[in-house]
Amino acid sequence: MAGLADLFCPDLYYDRISSVNLDDLRSRGIRGLVIDLDNTLVAWRSSEIPPDVSEWASKAKKMGFTLCIASNTRRYRRLAGVASALGASYVTGVSKPRRAGFRRAVRELDLPAECVAAIGDQLLTDILCANRAGLLSIFVERISQREFVVTKFNRRLERRILDSLRKSGKLPERRMAG
Ligand SMILES: [Mg+2]
Repeated sequence: MAGLADLFCPDLYYDRISSVNLDDLRSRGIRGLVIDLDNTLVAWRSSEIPPDVSEWASKAKKMGFTLCIASNTRRYRRLAGVASALGASYVTGVSKPRRAGFRRAVRELDLPAECVAAIGDQLLTDILCANRAGLLSIFVERISQREFVVTKFNRRLERRILDSLRKSGKLPERRMAG
């Protein structure tokens, strides 16, 4: 079981995407970010970008990071709107934890995988997918409690995996802004 839990273990853990330390990522050689949409950048099914998220993305762009949103949402206009507001590209039809979508996102960024980090709010999809694709994996806590019914089910398993990673001392310390 220990080996299996490792697949879900994030490299970095933050309370929120806007807390992710961009200088730290740069020092690790990261130049591109693959980012989940729902509950990572915006609340579930929302198009409203929180001001701190928008500020963080604009700082990332100024620092030379390229951003690509990877989502399975069918609300393409919402996805395109958020991407355009953040100066990001996007890929659609990403069925995590299958790797194909993240690979498309990495191609879109035009960077080698070792220069790309993936950021998402779910261990069972985002983090597993990032680890399988060889990207630096960054786990952030969800923006809101509202979620898809399947996600609610996955959260129960996620809590058990988090506990197990914590107990074995593998879960990175949860960091906050500043
Ligand atoms: Mg999400």
